[in-house]
Amino acid sequence: VRTYWFNAGQDTNFNTGEVIIREKRVHLRINKGILLDALALDERLAFGLFERGSPEALLSSQKIEYSHEAVTNIETIVHGVDAVVYAYPVKWAELVALIAVSADYYKKVWVGLFFLCCVGVVVIIGLVLYFIKRVYLLKFSLQAKLRSALRGSQLQMLYQPIVDMRTGQIVGAEALMRWHLDDREISPAEFIPLAENNGLITDLTLWCCEQVAKDLSVFLAYSEEKYVSINLSSVALASSDIARRLHLILSRYAIRPSQFVFEITESFTVAGEFAESQLFYLREMGYRIALDDFGTGNSNLIYLEQLPVDIIKIDKYFVTPDKMYSSDAMWWHIISIARSLDMTIIAEGIEGSDQVEPLLSAGVRYAQGYYYYKPTTAEAVLKLMGRGRQFSVDRNSLESRLACKS
Ligand code: C2E
Ligand code: CA
Ligand code: CA
Repeated sequence: VRTYWFNAGQDTNFNTGEVIIREKRVHLRINKGILLDALALDERLAFGLFERGSPEALLSSQKIEYSHEAVTNIETIVHGVDAVVYAYPVKWAELVALIAVSADYYKKVWVGLFFLCCVGVVVIIGLVLYFIKRVYLLKFSLQAKLRSALRGSQLQMLYQPIVDMRTGQIVGAEALMRWHLDDREISPAEFIPLAENNGLITDLTLWCCEQVAKDLSVFLAYSEEKYVSINLSSVALASSDIARRLHLILSRYAIRPSQFVFEITESFTVAGEFAESQLFYLREMGYRIALDDFGTGNSNLIYLEQLPVDIIKIDKYFVTPDKMYSSDAMWWHIISIARSLDMTIIAEGIEGSDQVEPLLSAGVRYAQGYYYYKPTTAEAVLKLMGRGRQFSVDRNSLESRLACKS
């Protein structure tokens, strides 16, 4: 049993007087200030012990102004003009402990807490939205759909014949991918860049290669002079060991590498050394390389000369009738540059007979375009390549057009 005397001795001051504690026969006399120091109170917090009903503190870290209401409403927060006070009972029924903070500090704490809660709520909302977006992207976005298209059967390879303009004979075909999604056909111009951005391009190219091999390998085995061409993204070449994997696939189908052309675009020139080494690897294995969309990029011709390229495909932009029959000889220069690189040239996007003769006279022998054939299914292209078709140049109409322009 301990007994306390708070107002012991001469000095009864609330923070300088003394407290006497007795336990059995031991009496301890402590300075109030030292006792309060031992509590290590936050200096913004005032603590005091009061006798119920008495306005004078028995012990207090600071002078506390409290209302009568604060001492009677035990365990209730009482808001005064200058301070916020909370009284709570202690071991001795006649005593009350009070803690008080200034009203300003109390307000600041609450504003801070409110602010913290707002930040917390914003963070939680942000995290929830982020996860919803992740789930959405994973399940419903075009990227996710493309991923499942790769696993399912929504992708298809079409083939557009490449023709010898002098004879009209089909010499090869370019493999072009199609994506059928919910009754619509998504253009490769839209989904290939998407695949390049989300790392799907390698798998897409491997799938394309396998499909082309399935579709055409038997035919190619019996038609040594024909070839098939597939588009090879420089992103795939730069980001994976795709060349070795393509070679593995094609080896399984016993395809002669010389009957397989890989088309790269001029953007390849910035794809880096690794991509370049893969191109050289493909060339070493015996595959041919075509430079697609020639003239549309801003490639360094000297650099192009060093690349292992066999075929140049002149972009359709340069060989439109408008361009060819205008006094602007740009198209002719492009072809001259291509010819000076001493490679096989294919003109793309030939839509009418009037484009054929100028191309032939400029020294371009091969072409691809709707005038000859549109991209078509594997079965259809096999039939076409099997039987061949002749295209003749309508010389009369061509000469009259040329005369008109001049
Ligand atoms: P590209 O390699 O330049 O392919 C030629 C594009 O021109 C094809 O469009 C073809 O359908 C179109 N075309 C052919 N003849 C004509 C014509 O006479 N007139 C006009 N206006 N267009 C013609 P497509 O199939 O929509 O392919 C667009 C591009 O998508 C391709 O351009 C190629 O860069 C890319 N692409 C297509 N399939 C694949 C693929 O399997 N892999 C990769 N990496 N890219 C592909
Ligand atoms: Ca191409
Ligand atoms: Ca092209």
